[in-house]
Amino acid sequence: MSQDYYETLGVGRNATPEEIKKAYRRLARQLHPDVNPDPQTQERFKVVTSAYEVLSDPQKRRVFDLGGDPLGSGGGQGAGFGQGFSFTDIMDAFFGQGTQRGPRSRMQRGKDALLRLDVDLADAAFGTARDLTVDTAVVCDTCHGSGARGDSEPVVCETCRGHGEVQQVQRSFLGDIRTARPCPTCRGFGSVIPNPCDECGGDGRVRARRTIAVKIPPGVDTGTRVQLAGQGEVGPGAGPAGDLYVEIQVAPHEFFVRDGDDLVCEVTVPMTAAALGMQLDLPTLEADTGASDVDKSIPLEIKPGTQAGERTVLRARGVPRLRGVGRGDLIVNVHVETPTKPDAAQENLLRQLASLRREENPDGQMSSAHKGMFGRLKDAFGQR
Ligand SMILES: [Zn+2]
Ligand SMILES: [Zn+2]
Repeated sequence: MSQDYYETLGVGRNATPEEIKKAYRRLARQLHPDVNPDPQTQERFKVVTSAYEVLSDPQKRRVFDLGGDPLGSGGGQGAGFGQGFSFTDIMDAFFGQGTQRGPRSRMQRGKDALLRLDVDLADAAFGTARDLTVDTAVVCDTCHGSGARGDSEPVVCETCRGHGEVQQVQRSFLGDIRTARPCPTCRGFGSVIPNPCDECGGDGRVRARRTIAVKIPPGVDTGTRVQLAGQGEVGPGAGPAGDLYVEIQVAPHEFFVRDGDDLVCEVTVPMTAAALGMQLDLPTLEADTGASDVDKSIPLEIKPGTQAGERTVLRARGVPRLRGVGRGDLIVNVHVETPTKPDAAQENLLRQLASLRREENPDGQMSSAHKGMFGRLKDAFGQR
């Protein structure tokens, strides 16, 4: 004989059927392939299952107690017997019933919907209101969501008698194994609609196009999703609507580039203006909104002696913060335009200037790396 079935299950020779059942249940919990699929464990599960097969059957147990092997040589023929059932099936068999789920409701929450919205930078920065046309499921006007035609009502499903599921019973050495499936006649609802609504075919909802007003808050950026609670599609059976998400896509601006809550722009001034200083009017992003109560431009001072690449930071002139208060900054990068193709008179003046500044023969010396690009450029022209 290949094995001692009592030892395999870890019970004494005079164990009661209840004790044997308990011992197997404990082992099956650890060893069932659904729980522990490695091959060694599966092999052990087969052995344990064949032990249970023998000891749970009074006749086979007696054969074994008398020194025979009721499963024949090898003792494993019955092992596959327990394999065709899922772990849940086995547990259900022990606990005597399947899990009672009951019929499912026809009313379910609707799906969320996602919509993309292109806005320009000013609208993203300062907020906007739009009317959006959306195609979603709405409650069927004809049946008001019941799915039934006229005054007719859903009736109890005859196949499952309203349970929403059908049970199948398989006999095995473990006892009756019950498995439950959603009822094929009513698809699990427990009721059928004999006269479905002509408009929606029994779903309780229809697709419709509608227009909704959407408020885009200031400070949104590409990828921001604005949630509109309850504006998604209505659920089956007039279930509560899901949410509508509007995902923002911001179009590039001609002058302004966004960097988080900051706006960055480039301004080019002539060399003479950079040297002598000037004031200019910088058009604002607010001007794009067309609103009358905003600054169309802000004065920007180019200080005398401004270097190429200098940046000016205008505090709180950037994008309003989506979460939190205040605004980012407006960063102006100044570019200096060197005169090209000067005529004879201009060239003469430039030479005079160079002479006055003792810059006729600049040595173009190297500057230390930590002084940065502007320091080096300055040194290249002999200025200190
Ligand atoms: Zn309907
Ligand atoms: Zn049914």
